[in-house]
Amino acid sequence: MSKQPCGHLSAIHDVKKPQRYVCDECVKSGGRWVHLRTCQTCGATLCCDNSPSRHARAHVGASGHPVIASAEPGERWLYCFTDDVTVMY
Ligand SMILES: [Zn+2]
Ligand SMILES: [Zn+2]
Ligand SMILES: [Zn+2]
Repeated sequence: MSKQPCGHLSAIHDVKKPQRYVCDECVKSGGRWVHLRTCQTCGATLCCDNSPSRHARAHVGASGHPVIASAEPGERWLYCFTDDVTVMY
């Protein structure tokens, strides 16, 4: 491994899965999303940076929760916004 995972990522042992395949915030506002991400601190499922509202990034900024996982079926990776590190699991 050339890059060590950050402390936030190495603290995660059980990856939270999305409870529903929708962006919680887009559902409230009637918005649309491209891909979904699940916050590993609180389990909120929110939309990615390719989505118009970028709710996952907004959530990180507002809540301080650093790590999201892809909520897309078949994708198995975690990303730390604080350290800009991605790991596969
Ligand atoms: Zn980190
Ligand atoms: Zn959204
Ligand atoms: Zn969160």
